[in-house]
Amino acid sequence: MGRLAMNEIRLCDPSLEPIRRKLGAGERLSFEDGLVLERTPDLLGLGALANAVRERLHGNAAYYNINTHLNPTNVCVYRCDFCAFRADLNDERAYVMTEAQVRERAQQAQARGATELHIVGGLHHKLPFSWYVDVVRWVKQAAPAIHVKAYTAVEIEWFAKIGRMAIEDVLKRLIDAGLGSLPGGGAEIFHPEVRERICGAKASTEKWLEVHRTAHRLGLHSNATMLYGHIERAEHRIDHLLRLRALQDETGGFQTFIPLAFHPDNSRMEEIPKPSGVMDLRMMAIGRLMLDNVPHIKAYWVMLGLKTAQVALAFGADDIDGTVVHEKIYHEAGADTPQEVSAEEIRRLIEEAGREPIERDTLYRRVEREGAAWQIGAAVGGPPLLAGSRR
Ligand code: SF4
Repeated sequence: MGRLAMNEIRLCDPSLEPIRRKLGAGERLSFEDGLVLERTPDLLGLGALANAVRERLHGNAAYYNINTHLNPTNVCVYRCDFCAFRADLNDERAYVMTEAQVRERAQQAQARGATELHIVGGLHHKLPFSWYVDVVRWVKQAAPAIHVKAYTAVEIEWFAKIGRMAIEDVLKRLIDAGLGSLPGGGAEIFHPEVRERICGAKASTEKWLEVHRTAHRLGLHSNATMLYGHIERAEHRIDHLLRLRALQDETGGFQTFIPLAFHPDNSRMEEIPKPSGVMDLRMMAIGRLMLDNVPHIKAYWVMLGLKTAQVALAFGADDIDGTVVHEKIYHEAGADTPQEVSAEEIRRLIEEAGREPIERDTLYRRVEREGAAWQIGAAVGGPPLLAGSRR
């Protein structure tokens, strides 16, 4: 992929010129700059700016991993408007995985060469905190080499409530059981005008940020998300990104930002159409440009579709997620992507997009494979963030 310097990019919208100058000088973009990016009709100019930053950070590399999802229960006390995954206690769709099922899923993941198990689920009315700790322990016993990326900040805050514990103590119990990092879910939109309307009952913005701040202090890396394309407006999205950027300035613990496209099917917001491909690419580019201190931007293909994810690799994204198996949350909400794409197919899609595929583990270290065996190599993609925290 040909690299363009900032000053070689052709911009059709003159309002992008001051932003180009700032980016060229390595200056930080403001809230007002974010609104200009949101409103510019020059999608290709915006994408080219984001691509220049992405290539400055990662060259031509595009990362992926081999992982499996595990959603231990779909029973949830909350009723977020956008959620098609949750079930009531007595719902015929309700399930709680057994210990044997959790162990089997972990063993299957290990047998097919996965380096990561991504665990998120509902907040069950009756299960104690110790059950969620056990899920992590069962996974690590069944598949010791697998990195456990588990429980969103919303779940961690729920555990603190039901366990009557401090967030720090919840995280320490989970780390003792084998937790390796936190996923970025549950962030949705931080601005109270939106959060209170779509998911007012669950962890507040302050709590979400506090969980990640505490996790980073304990040496855990985490990811961050933003759910876009529903009732929020441009200023809510930029506000969201700036809150993440401020926490990252403080801790340096976020690895990856993942813009999540709203999927309306089977949710209580079914009347809202899915975000367009233009919006998907715009969010990717804006995430890359505003979050100047977060190393990676992920195009989560399960939500975006493989074709948009491929294009996103030229709009600021440097990561395409993994060869996901057993994904339930977005498929329940109408995602028509496959459950699994082979590593060969992911590599082919990345190469077709003009990038160099690099398999990484959860903590962005190169994965080296020989036959069925794999080992962790050197760190890739961006500076180490939390000293001594790659586990
Ligand atoms: S998004 Fe999470 S917290 Fe909200 S209803 Fe769904 S499972 Fe529960």
